[in-house]
Amino acid sequence: MIGRRACTSIALAATTLVASLTLTACGGSSSAKGADGKLDVVASFYPMEFLARQIGGDHVAVTDLTAAGVEPHDLELTAKQVGAVQKADAVVYLKGLQPTVDQAVDQSSAKHRIDATAASPLVDHHLDEGTEEGNGQKAKGPAGDPHIWLDPTRYAAIARSVGDEFAKADPAHADDYRKNTDELVGKLDALDKEFQAGLKNATTRTFVTSHAAFGYLADHYGLTQVAINGVDPESEPTPARLAEVQKAARDNGVTTIFFETLVSPRLADTVAKDLGLRTAVLDPLEGVKDPSKDDYLSVMKQNLANLQAALGATSAAPSTATS
Ligand SMILES: [Zn+2]
Repeated sequence: MIGRRACTSIALAATTLVASLTLTACGGSSSAKGADGKLDVVASFYPMEFLARQIGGDHVAVTDLTAAGVEPHDLELTAKQVGAVQKADAVVYLKGLQPTVDQAVDQSSAKHRIDATAASPLVDHHLDEGTEEGNGQKAKGPAGDPHIWLDPTRYAAIARSVGDEFAKADPAHADDYRKNTDELVGKLDALDKEFQAGLKNATTRTFVTSHAAFGYLADHYGLTQVAINGVDPESEPTPARLAEVQKAARDNGVTTIFFETLVSPRLADTVAKDLGLRTAVLDPLEGVKDPSKDDYLSVMKQNLANLQAALGATSAAPSTATS
């Protein structure tokens, strides 16, 4: 026990002080499984947790570093969480979204590190122009929009890499991991086809959202995202940016200003009121408030319905979150 506690405090000190510290002395437990016989998996935030649970099934014990309903950008880790990353068998994370998680993984002795961006490289969507955040973005960390999980085909590629790595980490259950991966990828393929068909006849292809989380989704389905904020949902737009958004909304027949579930809708409400438009939810799935009721697939289907309503692609009623 003393050894483990020492590991935790060293890892914490390393996180706060130096990145180059190596922790070879703490890597003693390199067996493939935890005490309960399950593969010990740490996931950085909801979309990674969902993949780990779906693919791992009963063979894995999953710890999510970002609590349900918490906004994951700029997450701070507790000493206990750093310890969990340190002793995990496998870590599933998305490099570039949460710097403290990236640091903890760098210092972890986990043999199986699954970085989502290795399966689906990030693209720079240049969506931060004109926001306060945009001015600091270039100097701050790796370039690229981190929201890759919102394109179901990219998410499927990440699922494949999780399945492959779990099979390596726990070969005794490799067949189950493959089967579960195939099943999930099948569902994601079906979801992709629903989006393709559902958005085909949209009367406008431009949508306005508070937080620029939907660049990959827009790319994949031929839509244009106009974001009030940058990739960081807490940033504040400049007055010039607000004027641009209003012009884009007027020019493109926009009916709806989207906001998200984990961040205050104040900004979207203000913009919508100024333009006489309604608001609705477009959920970036950075967390799910009630995982017993909703999951990636159900929330994405709701997103599709809300997009269809906003883009005139269906006669379906808009979401309940209208103003
Ligand atoms: Zn985000």
